[in-house]
Amino acid sequence: MTGPRTLVGLGVSPGIAIGSTVVVENRPLPVMRVQIPEEQVDNELARLQDACGRASEHLGRLAGEATARVGHEYGSIFEAHRLMLEDPTLLDEVKRVIRKERVNAEWALEEVIRKLLTQFNKLSDVYLRERQTDLLDVAAQLQRELQGRATPRIESDGAPAVLIADDIPPSQAIQLSAGMICGFASETGGTTSHTTIIAKSLGIPAVVGVHNLIDVAGRASTVIIDGFEGHVIVDPDPALLQVYRLRAEEHRLRQQDLLGVVSLPAVTQDGRRVRLMANIDLVHELAAARTGGAEGIGLFRSEFLFLEASPNLPDEDQQAAAYSKLLEAFPDRPVTVRTFDLGGKKLARELLGSPEANPVLGLRGVRLCLQKPDFFRTQLRALLRAAGQTGGQLRIMVPLVGNVEEIRTVRVLLDRLAVELAAEGHSVPPRVAVGAMIEVPAAAMIAEHIAKQADFFAIGTNDLTQYTLAVDRANEQVADLYRPFHPAVLRLLERIISTGRAARIPVSLCGEMAADPLAVPILVGLGLEEFSMHAPALPVIRSLIRALSYRDAHRIATRALSLSTAKAVEEYLLEQLSGLLAHLKVRIRL
Ligand code: PEP
Ligand code: MG
Repeated sequence: MTGPRTLVGLGVSPGIAIGSTVVVENRPLPVMRVQIPEEQVDNELARLQDACGRASEHLGRLAGEATARVGHEYGSIFEAHRLMLEDPTLLDEVKRVIRKERVNAEWALEEVIRKLLTQFNKLSDVYLRERQTDLLDVAAQLQRELQGRATPRIESDGAPAVLIADDIPPSQAIQLSAGMICGFASETGGTTSHTTIIAKSLGIPAVVGVHNLIDVAGRASTVIIDGFEGHVIVDPDPALLQVYRLRAEEHRLRQQDLLGVVSLPAVTQDGRRVRLMANIDLVHELAAARTGGAEGIGLFRSEFLFLEASPNLPDEDQQAAAYSKLLEAFPDRPVTVRTFDLGGKKLARELLGSPEANPVLGLRGVRLCLQKPDFFRTQLRALLRAAGQTGGQLRIMVPLVGNVEEIRTVRVLLDRLAVELAAEGHSVPPRVAVGAMIEVPAAAMIAEHIAKQADFFAIGTNDLTQYTLAVDRANEQVADLYRPFHPAVLRLLERIISTGRAARIPVSLCGEMAADPLAVPILVGLGLEEFSMHAPALPVIRSLIRALSYRDAHRIATRALSLSTAKAVEEYLLEQLSGLLAHLKVRIRL
């Protein structure tokens, strides 16, 4: 008899989740070519048809559930996949290969997909290339059914369930928003990988980078995810279960308590006012942003519109409608929309360009947009139209700026498009703020030049840390080297904030560091006036700011910046803050 087992990973989203397991294995199994005798061909065809039926049924169910829980735009993703699966073009071709070559269905499917992908890659039309990802998704589902593996389902039978996965790409993590999963653990991932960010936005406890997770926890009947400690407890005994139930309840009550401060201003004891805003990936997170007391949107990751519109590209009207929703939700507050940050390891890597050897240093963010002027133009027009229609305080934020020309070019494009839209009879705002994300060390080093072209800075510490330290933010193998408190990162932060202040432009910080209680005194002490974070973190950070004085924060920041290692900085901050954190009942783990 085996007792409970505890697996250790990185706790990336705080909280405790207890539930049965939903297992998702995304790693594909190798496909072998098996020659079959003529008399088995019909069997193979029937096997293919059955697998297709099962996959289609599954997608139909997902579409229904997602529509019922979170709205049609999510349901339609699965519905579109189901239609693709039922489209005879794909299946007929696979059947033809089975008959002609007398091979197993798995191999025939692989062969057909390989051929289709070669054709897709030759297309210059972005819309058609967009369908490539959907085709791959659909083919993977069918392949799984053929191999007798359950299609990964992010759904539960209504009881709380925790998701156990080898790897979850952001395109699948979006399904977490359907509200069926109360916690999540994965073998891959890092503190700022995009799936982690989605889990945090949704307030779902999460642990990533857990070795052997599927082998050990895949068949468990109950699993506890402890997002504070980074533990995954497999098949706990009743006593342990009770302890965690109490902890979960304590956390829930604490969160409720914290909501009591949402209407109070984020002001330090000695009167320094800070603006707290929300990061949003999906439009439907707006409600959580308002509940958390956000004073505007500091980062809307517009690339997620791609997933919502899948398999189509979001057109100008769809985009304008989404941006208008944001602006209407915060009518007299800044609403910062980041232009598409696609590429790198992010969404649509495979559809917007040919594969790159080193995508994180490749065609990503503003670089990609400037290379696809038609595609970028649609977004900029939609943004200007939304600002004109709503009269809201739109801020357009440009990701991955590495030089002055990039931000200048975006400004020129916007000015031209404003003239074009006005000539078409649209109302356009006299001027929209255009800001640079400072997340590439080069941009930090020439911040004073960029400040001349930008109306604001937004510091992206997730990427700034990655690029400064040369540590992949999503790779669990180097997760212990990914340290936002590394003195090199802190020096860049100091430089960016002071340069922005000297240039008299607003500086905000929208990386995950903004939501880290330990970072608060450093950031306040360096003079940061705008923080933007996933909504569930807003109450804790607000409470902390209200409990600090700027004078102390400044002293702490000055001392932290003189230390030589990330560890020394973290320990110093913990020592300085431990009393306050205990008083506020905020749990921190180094
Ligand atoms: C960042 O890099 O800090 C950031 C906010 O953007 P993203 O996490 O989407 O790259
Ligand atoms: Mg970034």
